[in-house]
Amino acid sequence: MNPSVGGELLRAPLFHTPRNPFRDSSALESYQDGGLLIREGRVAGCGDYGILRDANPEVPTVDLRDGFLLPGFIDTHIHFPQLRVLGGLGRSLLDWLEHCALPEEARMADHSHACRIARGFVHALASHGTTTALVFGAHFAPATAALFEAGEAAGLRIAAGQVLSDRLLRPELHQTPEQAYRESSLLIHRFHGRFHGRGRSMYAVTPRFALSTSEAMLEVAQTLLREHDGLLLQTHLNENRQEIAEVARLFPWASDYLAVYERFGLSGTNAVMAHDVHPSDSELDRLASSGTAIAHCPSSNAALGSGLFPLKRHINRGVRCALGTDVGGGTGFGMLKEGLQAYLLQRIAPDGMLLDAGHLLYLATLAGAEALGLSNEIGDFRAGKSADFVYLRPPADSPLAAVLEREQSPERVLAAIFTLAGAESVREVRVEGSVVHRSVAREER
Ligand SMILES: [Zn+2]
Repeated sequence: MNPSVGGELLRAPLFHTPRNPFRDSSALESYQDGGLLIREGRVAGCGDYGILRDANPEVPTVDLRDGFLLPGFIDTHIHFPQLRVLGGLGRSLLDWLEHCALPEEARMADHSHACRIARGFVHALASHGTTTALVFGAHFAPATAALFEAGEAAGLRIAAGQVLSDRLLRPELHQTPEQAYRESSLLIHRFHGRFHGRGRSMYAVTPRFALSTSEAMLEVAQTLLREHDGLLLQTHLNENRQEIAEVARLFPWASDYLAVYERFGLSGTNAVMAHDVHPSDSELDRLASSGTAIAHCPSSNAALGSGLFPLKRHINRGVRCALGTDVGGGTGFGMLKEGLQAYLLQRIAPDGMLLDAGHLLYLATLAGAEALGLSNEIGDFRAGKSADFVYLRPPADSPLAAVLEREQSPERVLAAIFTLAGAESVREVRVEGSVVHRSVAREER
């Protein structure tokens, strides 16, 4: 499966959501005997294999019919320094930050440690089929640079930024606003929108959350966004009731949590805010009208006891939502697992939405591309997009393989993949047609 100049035609059952299934009930497209035609790293065609083969007889076929092709997963909320605190169950947000996350984040001051964690983090993304991620970097500029470098070396699309905070965490994690401005500016010049080898980087201005950022620090975030074109903004919003009460105390002039960010121009179509478990109707309306996207992180919401995400209220009011794993408050890197968690929690939420496999695929792929402003480039298999995809093939003796032995509808096959597939089923992952991960098991066949 090496990309050739003349192109290649991958033959496999394939699924993608070129439209939004919350608006269009036919958004999920699938081909049981599918073909994905790739030329020079781009999707040149997607559809029925026979039709594509007849139209392109000169292009060699790669037979992958023992597995499935999906667009590469897009994780819209994840913390690079928290790789090693996964599994810290039993605490709620502020307690978990103090005792689990922040001591580990302080270790990022050690550059060799940061480089090692960055390599492990990027490998974990790729090995779970994630081709693009919006990542909270470290509070330290060199560690954040290490993340970008690891992502570029691996060939993944990484949008990230140095995490900005100047109060209420631990002293070693705080910067002054001047230092934050200086260091962030250097990182933007070094990494934003530049191509390094096979890698692709975008810079995301990253105030940690209103709790840990003074007004002067939020002004720095605003200034950085004004001074550079095409930056993203990422932060946290309305995750936990205790956090929300604390934000109200710190910003007495603000009518609600979102108003703090709005005061500094931080909402908008380039902004992705994680969680929003406890929004007011007014906040939802303002998120929708400004085009701000929410990164929904169901595993994290459950693990930290933050609450049940009101997905229906977001969708009905027109708020853009995508999916994030929130490592390490969440439970791992798998976007399929995260999709399943979204489904499970919506099943038991008081006003939950019944999600089908098409919704889950959309949330894990195109919705993320839309949140990051990259929907012209990635997220589905429409012709002209980058050939970012994951090839899944369950181990022969796995429950998923047993389920798939039966003749089933495409929707049921995709639902079984979300329910049962993990990293063990991820055989090959590509970004713009180039391999970024290949499992050893596939070579051994
Ligand atoms: Zn987070």
